[in-house]
Amino acid sequence: MVFVSEKVKNLPPYLFSQFQQRKEQLKQKGVDVIDLGIGSPDLPTPSFVYEELKEQVNNPQNHRYSPYSGCDEFKQAVASFYAKRYQVTLDPNTEVLTLIGSKEGIANLIQAVINPMDKVLVPDPGYPAYRKGVHLAGGVSVSLPLDANNQYAPLFDQISEQDAIAAKLMFLNYPNNPTAAYGEWGTYLEAVSFCRRYNILLAHDAAYDLVTFGNYKAPSALQIPGAKDYVVELGSLSKSFNMTGWRIGYIVGNKEVIAALATLKSNIDTCQFMPIQKAAAKALQSDLTAVKENNLIYEQRMEKLHTALGKLGLHAEKPKGTLYLWVQVPREESSLTFANRLLEETGIIVTPGTAFGANGEGFIRISLSTHAERLDEVVRRLSKLDVKR
Ligand SMILES: *Cc1c(COP(=O)(O)O)cnc(C)c1O
Repeated sequence: MVFVSEKVKNLPPYLFSQFQQRKEQLKQKGVDVIDLGIGSPDLPTPSFVYEELKEQVNNPQNHRYSPYSGCDEFKQAVASFYAKRYQVTLDPNTEVLTLIGSKEGIANLIQAVINPMDKVLVPDPGYPAYRKGVHLAGGVSVSLPLDANNQYAPLFDQISEQDAIAAKLMFLNYPNNPTAAYGEWGTYLEAVSFCRRYNILLAHDAAYDLVTFGNYKAPSALQIPGAKDYVVELGSLSKSFNMTGWRIGYIVGNKEVIAALATLKSNIDTCQFMPIQKAAAKALQSDLTAVKENNLIYEQRMEKLHTALGKLGLHAEKPKGTLYLWVQVPREESSLTFANRLLEETGIIVTPGTAFGANGEGFIRISLSTHAERLDEVVRRLSKLDVKR
């Protein structure tokens, strides 16, 4: 272990790995394990997107280095997408940057913005990459509790004056992973005014901006008046266009921050393969029919599972988007014991809420990325589970 840094050694292990080990053991024993722990779409990338990729690959011009900050076609497509969907004007040259997936963007953004020991407000429960990224940048994470009794809006009044003053960066994420909550307009307003008061950069992770149900349309944090002074927003094609493996996303907003991140990144990577960026541009400029079709599938799965869980006495708010149900565990059981019991008694893997922060206690996250027939099997197995109410 001589060659491993303290930073890497001290990274807390993913709680998921424990479940993956047990999954392998059970599979060897012949158990048909159903994994609803992962948050990765099972549906294919729309065909018009990969047809465009094939075409772009055929052009040798596209085999060269991309410009560091991304190719014009992609950055222009992101700007057009923001204008059309959110009525937000972005300069593609200074206010848009291509990312190799938003996870890359999160880790590098933290490096670009904070100094060692700076504080970062991270939603609890929240996507683990924020906390890990802060650790790797030598910063200090401060939990920003999401209030279960208030649609998982952050409890800003639980942040001490001292922490608020010391904080340099804050993450928010709506529609939210893991709670599946959506962001009320008031939440964005309150967040931006908090950031203005304490001079904090708000990084809004909009990975599920297009993964919504019914008529619900998720807002952009950049729609708040004056937002560009304090806000950057990260977007991804991973979840909306089923493109997790492609590694393509973007960050938009405050131009000083975009420039700082571009400088940092130009010393680390040389952007994404141009055919991928150009195919992703086609996706963002499309009429989003493919996204709506996917969303309908997720919504039907969500309804099916929500009904089944309800019959069992397991409560979950019906979400307006994302790929998850955030389910309350039976009383007197912890997230971890219930998730373990589900695996042992039904062969179903879910994620304990505590994998996303201490405030996730009392919940499990169930992923909707499994086809309908498999979900029927999930429902059948769950109905045999002994749930204390
Ligand atoms: C999946 C996910 C991401 C990562 O997306 P990539 O663009 O594939 O890196 C970022 N944030 C949240 C909240 C996610 O759930």
